Amino acid sequence: MNILMVTSEAVPFAKTGGLADAVSALSIALSKLGHDVRIVLPRYYRIDRSALELIPGPMGVHCGYQEIWTGLYTTKLPGSDVPVYFIDHEQTYGRDGIYGVPGETDFNDNPQRFSLLGHAAFQLCRKINWMPDIVHAHDWAAALAPILLKFHGEYHDFSSTASVFTIHNMGYQGVYGKHQYPHTGLSWDSFYAAGFEDWDRMNFLKAALVSSDKLTTVSPTYAQEIQRPEYGFRMDGILRYRSQDLIGILNGVDTEIWNPAKDKLIPVRYTAKTLDKKAENKKALQKRMGLEENPNIPIVGMITRLADQKGVSELFGPAYGSAYRICTEIDLQMVILGSGEDWCEKELSTLNRELPNFSAYIGYDEDLSHLIEAGSDFFLMPSRYEPCGLNQMYSLIYGTLPIVRRTGGLVDTVQNYNEQTGEGTGFILDNLTPQSIYDTVGWAAYAWYNKPKHIRAMQLQGMKQKFGWDISAKKYEDVYKSALLEK
Ligand code: ADP
Repeated sequence: MNILMVTSEAVPFAKTGGLADAVSALSIALSKLGHDVRIVLPRYYRIDRSALELIPGPMGVHCGYQEIWTGLYTTKLPGSDVPVYFIDHEQTYGRDGIYGVPGETDFNDNPQRFSLLGHAAFQLCRKINWMPDIVHAHDWAAALAPILLKFHGEYHDFSSTASVFTIHNMGYQGVYGKHQYPHTGLSWDSFYAAGFEDWDRMNFLKAALVSSDKLTTVSPTYAQEIQRPEYGFRMDGILRYRSQDLIGILNGVDTEIWNPAKDKLIPVRYTAKTLDKKAENKKALQKRMGLEENPNIPIVGMITRLADQKGVSELFGPAYGSAYRICTEIDLQMVILGSGEDWCEKELSTLNRELPNFSAYIGYDEDLSHLIEAGSDFFLMPSRYEPCGLNQMYSLIYGTLPIVRRTGGLVDTVQNYNEQTGEGTGFILDNLTPQSIYDTVGWAAYAWYNKPKHIRAMQLQGMKQKFGWDISAKKYEDVYKSALLEK
């Protein structure tokens, strides 16, 4: 099959979250299954043009009010034959930030910026003379592609192409004033028919949920949860209506990058057979984070966007968050890597100053994220909701026991500790409250000190889990086939 991935993020070019990892890894896995997979995304300012190949001639994209003349660059995804195409338009994408910058977290002209991406995806196919069987769009910023396929008269030549839309996070929908709607280039009839209308505003995600042939999300449990009001972000009704077309497929892990036996970013590599070597990474982590170098105290690690979704309010909320109590009442060390909301960054700095067994690094740091996975004993993810989550899977692979909330992909990947039998791969909390985070971290630390055999058995059990993209790619292949069959 010819598959075009339309996305606003793809590693290693542009990333704000798990979406970027998923798109690239899935593309490579599908291409290994023999499909011709190509990716299209904007060329943001930070993507260096000199490392790319220019496709000669400007590309005219008829987009809303105007014809926009873009440039087109290409390269291959590193380590693969998957072509990546970059839409180049200085005025639209030539700035820092994918969706916004600090101070303007959502660019005012995002409807226009991402409408251009949707139209350019089809224009690209014409220009390179390549017809996709499947247009696979990811999250609201790429939502226009499946919508155009169904509702825009200009794309008749794609009438045998089917569309798949993947929800990586329901919390981000692309909702704007309807005066921006003309940028989509669609008629006002489609404002209602395609499902844009949302309390008299326009909603990109909603329209993709209505218009795409098949919908997927990144774990089976999240696919069920988003059909309920608590998790559906107001879209639960549409998703219940479309439940026959909604499939949950767990994200895989790129085991070339996240593998303690091969990881070049950690001081000492190890496997399940040489798990004792993990202690050397723990020592290195303690050193790097300025903590006491002591093998006899458990480390709880965390790598996260500092956003409410991740449970950071309950953990670090001034006065009521449980981190202070955890660090003062439980004998452990805590290591946090993250960036995000202002209040939370400030709170982390305060805890850094006040607690000798707490160390936070505020920022984005790929190397440190690998060291935290390799050097920690536990990994904390008390998410409010979690479409899939990657770090709990990395943790299992690295023999680092996840402490997670019972939601989304965390349910599909972590098996709760049974203190009678010693079975399980992690520790699960049900309610997102400061007390329950405290209790569950306390439970994990108790097991670490008192049930070392159970802890070791859980680590080994976790390290056996298989999260390869090859498994997920086959499931996407089935979705593509049924989308084409039902077209
Ligand atoms: P989300 O996409 O909701 O942020 P995921 O768990 O799906 O959450 O993916 C997050 C990815 O981003 C993981 O690969 C994680 O290691 C990485 N990450 C998040 N914050 C940081 C950070 N501050 N430094 C390095 N990597 C980070």
